Parts: sequence; structure tokens; C-alpha cells
Amino acid sequence: MNPFIGVGMKGLDAVRRAVDDAEVETITCVPGYPITETAEAVGAEVSLNEKVALEIALGASATGSRAMVLTKQLGMNLLADPLVISATHTIGSGLVVLVGDDLGPKGSQAEMDSRAFGQLAKLPVLDPRDPAALYSSLIEAYSLSESLRIPVIVRVTPRLLSASGSLLQPAPFRGSGQGYERVSWNLTVKGRHQRHHSEVLPLAEAASEASPLNRVLISPEAKTGIIASGFPASQAEGLGASLLSVAYVYPLPWRLIRKFIDRHSRILVAEEPEPFIESQLRMEPKVRGKLSGHLPYGLLERSDLIRGLEEVPETHMACEAGRYESIAERGYTGICEDCPFIPLYRALAKLDVPVAGDAGCVIRTTREPYESVDLVYGLGSAVGVASGFRSKGVAVIGDFGLAHSGLQALINAVWRKQEVFVVLLKNGVAAMTGGQEAPDLTKLIEALAPTSHIRLPAQEGDVEEALRAGLARPGVTVLVAEGRCMRADAGLRD
Ligand code: SF4
Repeated sequence: MNPFIGVGMKGLDAVRRAVDDAEVETITCVPGYPITETAEAVGAEVSLNEKVALEIALGASATGSRAMVLTKQLGMNLLADPLVISATHTIGSGLVVLVGDDLGPKGSQAEMDSRAFGQLAKLPVLDPRDPAALYSSLIEAYSLSESLRIPVIVRVTPRLLSASGSLLQPAPFRGSGQGYERVSWNLTVKGRHQRHHSEVLPLAEAASEASPLNRVLISPEAKTGIIASGFPASQAEGLGASLLSVAYVYPLPWRLIRKFIDRHSRILVAEEPEPFIESQLRMEPKVRGKLSGHLPYGLLERSDLIRGLEEVPETHMACEAGRYESIAERGYTGICEDCPFIPLYRALAKLDVPVAGDAGCVIRTTREPYESVDLVYGLGSAVGVASGFRSKGVAVIGDFGLAHSGLQALINAVWRKQEVFVVLLKNGVAAMTGGQEAPDLTKLIEALAPTSHIRLPAQEGDVEEALRAGLARPGVTVLVAEGRCMRADAGLRD
């Protein structure tokens, strides 16, 4: 029996099958929860950052290969520049950005609703409800991307990727080899935007209205209708209300929504994590959802939808304001007991200067018992943040973070003659996402700034001495702290 077809097929399998059936040739990714496993399953090539990953995909598309970029939600921020430009620039073969939103974040510094990038970039976004719809959404996305010559975004969530699905209808969509055409250069930037608004978006709207992936389930007696997108649409079935499950969240199928609203006296909008659709329907007095206090922000459980269907005062969920999830409730994963960098973290805590950390293992030293790092503004941010300190402080950054986006800040610090002490945690891998290889930039760093080295683990006193020496030297200074991550060697991940 074909493992992809039938009950039990997971979202991840649906992506793998769609990639095969759409003959996607170039697949790039930056590992990170929740897309790492899916990226591995489809054989994605790891890029240093999401902007590069999309640029490679754009080049592949221009020369006739279908392409896919897999990224977590925060990666959308980095690839936004070429994404926004590609919308009016035009592309060649189909290109899909598959973005995984980490809801109720488990492995991210921020919860984000990637659906908003459709509105920002003016690109279609599909938000499938179950694995079968995920497969069909990807096939539809490649078809639309190729016919309109624009990238298409497909949003997934951890629960969708791990959900067991229903029957899948295979729909092979063979590659056309369509390449980029230079005609868009005949227009100015303004002209390309005019063309996008008057020709491309209306066609995307028509696709949204006509998509066979829209599902309308009318309960004849029901006064309430649920408008849902993504995984909550699968949870909203069988609650006694009518259900409109939309395939596209941008552009929305407005005529379908209007008709559905008119049939019901009350509407509940079920979506995750933000009120993206609800905020566009807010002027309609029948509409309830997160903004009205009938549903919580973030993840939605079926029990939330049941409560949301009750006609309740508008303060129903809002009364929970003030009761926020704490570290004590969720628990805190610190660094590994046998981490070779522990002496460094202990020594850092003794310095009386601000310390900017980075995403990755370093962030796990912000709390007790280490409290080594004061600030973490995301992957690759440490050097830039420390460059802004009033007096010389420390930037602690991993080798993957430096290659991802920290290197430009180091070059900037040297160029602008700033005072910053960079501690590079060199273990050769992206430890938290499963030990993907990180490039060795040591020679490049040595060419940029005075660099010293220490091998870890080492005596805490020796490490402290190395840190104080690096801080005492003027200008940009670097300490490369090299250690081996056994956990990554074993292929473990969060
Ligand atoms: S994953 Fe590796 S580098 Fe990270 S805390 Fe554990 S041992 Fe240290």
C-alpha cells in the first residue's frame, strides 16, 4: 500500500509527496523548529540564512527549476526583502515558501503570524487545515505561482505537520521548465506595481474564490457559522455550527465570505495565532473571535471553540489578562550538564559589563544558575547589539549565528571603529537544531580583528583571564572559544 495515501498520512508526508508530484528540483532551508524535520524529509539543502535560501530559489526558478524554501516564522523577517521585490519582479518556474509558525512558541523567541506576509508582499498565502489539504495546497500553489509568475506562501504549524490525515488525492503536476522573461524590465517599479494590482492580484483573488480547497459545510438549523483557516478548521467540524474553511487567507475569498455571513446571525472566526481574518471583518457586528474576547490569542483548542460558540459577555476571555504563562509553569531547559562552554558562562557572569547573547544555546544562560547574558534580540544579533553599548561590552555568538547574519555587524564594527568584544562559541554546528554543520570563519575573523583563542572546557580562572584581556584591549577584539558539542555529535535536537 502506498504509505502516502490513506488514513495515517502525516503533514510531513504530504509535503514530501507534493514535492515529488510537483517535480520540485531546488529545495533550500534554514533549520529551526518547527520545519527542521520536514526540511530533512524533503532533502532540503541548508543555507546560512533565509535571505540566501530564497535568493537561491529565485535563481533556480528563473532558470526553469521549481523551487521551495522552508523556513520557520522568524526566518520570514530575514527573507522579506527579496520576497517583497519578487512579487512585482516576476519569476520563472513555480516557487513556494513553506513557512512553519511555532505557535505557543517552543523553540522561538517570538510568536508570529506569517500569514501577514501575504498582505505585506502582496503574495497569495494558503493555510491548509489537514494533511490532505496541505498536499493539495502545495500543488495548487505551484500551479498558481507558475501561471502568475510570483512566489506563493504556504503556512504550516507543528500540529498540522504531525497530524494524521485523511485520504489524499494525488495530482501530479509536472514541471514546465518555464524560465524568467525579461519583459518586466520594460516597466518602471511603479509600472510593475500597477500591473501587479490590476492584473496579478485579481487573478489571485479569482483563484481564492474558486479554489476547490475552500470547504463550506452548512448545518441547516445552525444560526452560527464558523469561518476558519489552518488547523483550527479541522477542529471546528462537528460542533453544530456551519463551517467555512477558507483555502487562502490572502487574498481572502470575499464573495464566499459575504454569502456565508449573510446566511448566519452570528459568526465565530477560528484562526491562529492572531486575529488576521477577524480584523478584516471587525466592522461586521455579527463577528466574534479573539478581538471580541470570545477566543484566546495564540493556539486554539477544540474546547476554546466550544466556549467561543457560547453567547457570552465580551470579557469572557479577556478576563484572563494578567495571568501569563511563567517559566515556573512551563519549565526551563538550561544548557546541558556536560556542556564544554560552562566555564565560559560562569566567567561571563563575573564581568561587570553588559553582555549581548544570541539565539541558540547561549539564550539558555540568561536565567539562573548562570545569568551570563543580559540581552538576546535574535539569531545573529549579538555583535550589532553590543556595538551599541555606551562602553565596551561583550557579544557572545555561536558560529552558526555569526555566519547567519552576525558577520555583517562584525564588519560594521571594524569599519565604524567601534568598541566591542566578541566571544565566538565555536563548536562547528547549529547545536540546538540537530547539529547541522556551521562554516569555519576563523581565518576571516582573524583577518578582520585582533583574535585570541581558548579551548574549552578549561579552568574557570583561565577563561575569566582571557575574557578580561579581550575586554581591556581597545577597538574590536575577538576571543574564539572552541569546544565540542557531544549532544550535536549524537544528532539530538529540541
Ligand atoms: S547542545 Fe551542545 S553546545 Fe548546546 S548546551 Fe548542550 S552541549 Fe552545550
